[in-house]
Amino acid sequence: KRFSKDTFDKFKSTAQKTLHRSLDQHIKLAVTGFSGSGKTAFITSLIKHLTSQTNKTNLPFFDVITEQRLIAVKQIPQRALDIPSFDYTSAVSCLLNDTPTWPSSTQRINTLTLALKFESRHVLKQHLSPVSTVYLELIDYPGEWLVDLPMLNQDYQAWSQAVLNVLKQPQYRGYAKAFLDMLASFDDDAAVDESILKQLSQHYQQLLVTLKAKTKIAQLQPGRMLIPGDLAGAPVLLFFPCVSAGEHSNDSQYSHLQSRFNAYKQQVVTPFYKQHFCQFDRQIVLVDVLSALSDGPDTLKEQEDALRNIVQVFDYGRSGLLKRLFYPKIDKVLFAANKCDHVSYEQQPLLAKLLHSMLHEQSNDLRFAGVEIDTMAISAVQSTQQKQVVEAGKSLNCIQGKPNNEQHTITFLPPEPPSHRLSRAQWPAQGFDFLSFAPLPAQEGRLSHVRLDHVLQFLLGDKLR
Ligand code: GDP
Repeated sequence: KRFSKDTFDKFKSTAQKTLHRSLDQHIKLAVTGFSGSGKTAFITSLIKHLTSQTNKTNLPFFDVITEQRLIAVKQIPQRALDIPSFDYTSAVSCLLNDTPTWPSSTQRINTLTLALKFESRHVLKQHLSPVSTVYLELIDYPGEWLVDLPMLNQDYQAWSQAVLNVLKQPQYRGYAKAFLDMLASFDDDAAVDESILKQLSQHYQQLLVTLKAKTKIAQLQPGRMLIPGDLAGAPVLLFFPCVSAGEHSNDSQYSHLQSRFNAYKQQVVTPFYKQHFCQFDRQIVLVDVLSALSDGPDTLKEQEDALRNIVQVFDYGRSGLLKRLFYPKIDKVLFAANKCDHVSYEQQPLLAKLLHSMLHEQSNDLRFAGVEIDTMAISAVQSTQQKQVVEAGKSLNCIQGKPNNEQHTITFLPPEPPSHRLSRAQWPAQGFDFLSFAPLPAQEGRLSHVRLDHVLQFLLGDKLR
């Protein structure tokens, strides 16, 4: 039987459509980091650079752009209807103001989807369908929530013991004293008194918030007490650590706390991992190494512990303990030392090295159970410019910018960050005094960045070939 050209074309077009659809990809890129690490500014800058014609040319190390294969990028309605949308419009307008400011950070998970239409380089794809689309779902969630995962392996008593051990450490005891005193007079065997449980829970929550603000300790559980998202005030957050010696009746305060702890694990922690974390394809973790350095050796050590625990989280599903619970899909994770323009260009590689040494003690290879891990020093939005200053015949690598909340531009010689972890004994006597700067004004609507193109290439390059 012979087909008419018409029939053949129709057939070809249907086949192409089907294939085209199957070549289109959906990628979930998760952006996390502890609060203040720069998630909001990062996502805003990423969207701006991909969607605006003027900014696109500013990504020289992103292959799909350099090879001129990116045809169009636009925001499309999100698929997940149960997650709030990322408010790009207000965030980008802060950065594009005549006097730019940092967008205010959001305190919950949120999302936005971009459709990236590009010309494929792939021979097979090219033959059948030269244009493909990648649906890039960006998901921004607080790094504080990652800290909850180990709770799934603990019962209430073990968790309480571990938390109280931390609170009793010398550097935290001063802050924790009021709560610990209240806890000492708490009768865990008494019949439930909701008002007492609520009062102690609120004290505990306040203690976590204070500790986070004053000591920068990153690993505080439960994470939702720091960033409750939609759960602010919900009973599932009304518990606190309490260690008990004896048996308890079912209606004792202790049993009540135990049930709430279990409910938190089942209704808050587990769903976050199952419904969100396990669905992510790629992950960037933003790290504010410079703030930790400014703060001192305890904070840097604490940040290192928190990061190593986060690295573990990517491996949990594969390595055993929680294997039955979930299996993450993530195959690439980028740890980025953000705000690297707070040091001079020459010092930026030191930051990446420092971050690397914090994540991994010996090996250069951070490939981890099938997950490719890399580190970079970046600034999603540039806030300073490099400036050479000659003083007493010596050339100094300075930076120039407007410190946050100040009116005037200054030239600043940043201290040299270490390229590896420092012990307390190795810590320089003068410490590290880094400054924070306001975003640089956009040039004709064009934002600038440091190595955002390298980030995009690492996280998405292979999906846009
Ligand atoms: P989030 O809490 O993780 O969403 O963090 P934000 O995006 O709100 O950033 C917190 C602060 O870090 C901002 O107010 C800025 O001072 C600073 N910051 C964030 N992103 C950048 C960046 O890309 N470069 C520089 N130099 N500073 C940044």
